[in-house]
Amino acid sequence: MTRSCSAVGCSTRDTVLSRERGLSFHQFPTDTIQRSKWIRAVNRVDPRSKKIWIPGPGAILCSKHFQESDFESYGIRRKLKKGTVPSVSLYKMRTREIVELN
Ligand SMILES: [Zn+2]
Repeated sequence: MTRSCSAVGCSTRDTVLSRERGLSFHQFPTDTIQRSKWIRAVNRVDPRSKKIWIPGPGAILCSKHFQESDFESYGIRRKLKKGTVPSVSLYKMRTREIVELN
């Protein structure tokens, strides 16, 4: 199954083509504090429960949501620096959209 970016309004999919275009995909941190910072930054609402969305085990964000300075390079691989929180192209889910989903 192809994974997609979890950010609101972003539909980037984790495909060979995306990776060839220089995008990278990053799993939510396992560290509780760091993870909750990402959840707050993504600011997604679960349409069913209307509560804050909690990422599942395979949830990812694409590199569009991070600044160039957030990355460290290891050869051809890019890794996020420790303590990095997504800060780019993040949208708040509008109430209207949540209503429309029901
Ligand atoms: Zn994205």
